[in-house]
Amino acid sequence: MIEVTGANKHFGDAHVLRDIDLEVAAGEVVVVVGPSGSGKSTLCRCLNRLETLTSGEIRIDGRPLPAEGRALAQLRAQVGMVFQSFNLFGHRTILDNVALSPIHVAKRDRATARAEGLELLDRVGIADQAGKYPAQLSGGQQQRAAIARALAMRPKVMLFDEPTSALDPEMVSEVLDVMVGLAAEGMTMVVVTHEMGFARRAADRVVFMDAGQIVESDTPDAFFTGARSERARSFLSKVL
Ligand code: ATP
Ligand code: MG
Repeated sequence: MIEVTGANKHFGDAHVLRDIDLEVAAGEVVVVVGPSGSGKSTLCRCLNRLETLTSGEIRIDGRPLPAEGRALAQLRAQVGMVFQSFNLFGHRTILDNVALSPIHVAKRDRATARAEGLELLDRVGIADQAGKYPAQLSGGQQQRAAIARALAMRPKVMLFDEPTSALDPEMVSEVLDVMVGLAAEGMTMVVVTHEMGFARRAADRVVFMDAGQIVESDTPDAFFTGARSERARSFLSKVL
């Protein structure tokens, strides 16, 4: 589903992704962990072309990422992204937030898009909030709305970049539960998170990044009990 080959990314003099090779199979859940500044967000942003690689290639479903135009808009729809900050449109209702892209970008029928939007809000447990504005929701509810909004475009892949880092502790599990459900339904997911419990529950594979490199890539069991590199062991001793 996703193939990253020889990916490098520079910001000026900073070499932030170094020869990254990564394959994510359809239905696979890959959790990306690593210290601050190791390049996790940059890798995610490259996957839906919010950033461009300096060299190397990314293919989704066998096709290189399109550079611009309609093809790029389609790619962004196929690769849903959920960030730490929810990025909802503040002056639109929750249901509008979910239904607007299907109507305006995917050109779906308005009534269908709104009906599907309501179903998605129900699936993430906030159908009763559909008519409210983002500021009227809790952080956990807003993040679930953001997930519903990404799902509304019927993505093939979902990218999550620290989706629970900005939440109060009591709201973390309601968002993680939605993500665990998605994983169980077979969604292909790349998840940057510090929630090691989620990695244990839902990940097929844990990828450990440090200084722009993938240092380890293993099953959660193998990673948590027998990380090979000193860098991964040192990281784990701080987060577990
Ligand atoms: P964190 O856990 O803190 O979110 P991260 O692993 O997501 O860290 P990135 O945000 O990918 O790390 O950053 C990797 C490196 O690239 C860092 O050194 C960062 O300062 C640098 N960087 C990221 N975005 C930019 C940018 N737009 N311009 C310049 N440097 C950047
Ligand atoms: Mg980051």
